[in-house]
Amino acid sequence: MATAPFPAFSPSQRILLGPGPSGVSAKVLNALASPTVGHLDPEFLRLMDETQQMLRLVFRTANALTIPVSGTGSAGMEACVVNLIEPGDRMLVCVNGVFGGRMADVAARAGAEVRKLERPFGEVFSPDEIAAAVSDFRPKVTGIVHAETSTGALQPIPEISRIVHQAGSLLLMDCVTSLGGVPVEIDEWEVDAAYSGTQKCLSCPPGLSPVTFSERSIKAMDARKTKIASWYLDMSMVKNYWSQQSRAYHHTAPINMNYALHAALRDVLDEGLTARHQRHWNNHLALRAGVEALGLQYAVAESHRLPVLNAISIPAGVDDKAVRGMLLKEFGIEIGAGLGPMAGKTWRVGLMGESSSPRNVLLFLAALEGCLAAQGGNVPAGAGTSAANRTYRELNTAV
Ligand code: PLP
Repeated sequence: MATAPFPAFSPSQRILLGPGPSGVSAKVLNALASPTVGHLDPEFLRLMDETQQMLRLVFRTANALTIPVSGTGSAGMEACVVNLIEPGDRMLVCVNGVFGGRMADVAARAGAEVRKLERPFGEVFSPDEIAAAVSDFRPKVTGIVHAETSTGALQPIPEISRIVHQAGSLLLMDCVTSLGGVPVEIDEWEVDAAYSGTQKCLSCPPGLSPVTFSERSIKAMDARKTKIASWYLDMSMVKNYWSQQSRAYHHTAPINMNYALHAALRDVLDEGLTARHQRHWNNHLALRAGVEALGLQYAVAESHRLPVLNAISIPAGVDDKAVRGMLLKEFGIEIGAGLGPMAGKTWRVGLMGESSSPRNVLLFLAALEGCLAAQGGNVPAGAGTSAANRTYRELNTAV
């Protein structure tokens, strides 16, 4: 009998402290391994309805068109852009990192007349500069990244939303890294379209992109004169599959990925959004105390630091790749490299979803101390873990 010429793939158990994917619980992995049913099976239809309801709770919205797009966060980005933009429409894209840059690229490919409003990596936009740009350019859509995973900066949204709407523009927000980790308020902030990803603070494997569209953006889609450029991501067709009234096959849903998202969303709601945000914040504070006690510094100003993605400056004389390599090889810990102008200058330490825990913070600090010492650095022994433990005691968090 023939045998497959390849051994079975059995990946190592990693501690995922990079920019995503984050750790996935056994409960979510078990959901993924449940028996596959048909995409129109009544049991699956029930799961779809519940998933939409849970997504609305997590996005904090009443938007009817709230679904997981089949595909990763970039598919959600494309879905929002191609549905809102017709060739020749103006789109202002705020670019202060890699993902703002990607949104501008996607918009240009969709035929938009794109204007980029740029800030250096690691900085955020002020309401005044957005006001000047929208009143000059008069875009149909303004796109902005809430949590820039490439830099570790968190963009305040409410004031910007008001300004964008006053100029008659729609607000498109990337919340790939923020959803489930820091507050995201779609209705209160009047965000018109938003997309996220499953593999960050929702702690599900990558593969789906939750999106939500406001009534205002649906009106804009209904008023289109041209067909949506993407067949796969055409929400006017996809929404029929997700609607109880007009259920119709569009494409075969990634069934088991939807099981996993359903399980992950249940976990988010079981914990409660406020408690979950607090957990992410507390672990960030402990990490920060530890990192600073080891003599390292953050690359992003405290006023707009993203708690779920910690951009840490690499000290002079320390070999970026050697440290990341040692963390992975000796401790099974993955962290991220810097991107763009921050490449070689920062490490990106993600504390997202399941990965955001005192256990991981303390393990990472102890491992980092070892890696820095192996590089010949003069690191105070135990300083990182002591500082983090002190912070946990102060926060009254059980370790
Ligand atoms: N936007 C942001 C802020 C991201 O961090 C990412 C991925 O890291 C994306 C978009 C793209 O998502 P994906 O890699 O899942 O396609």
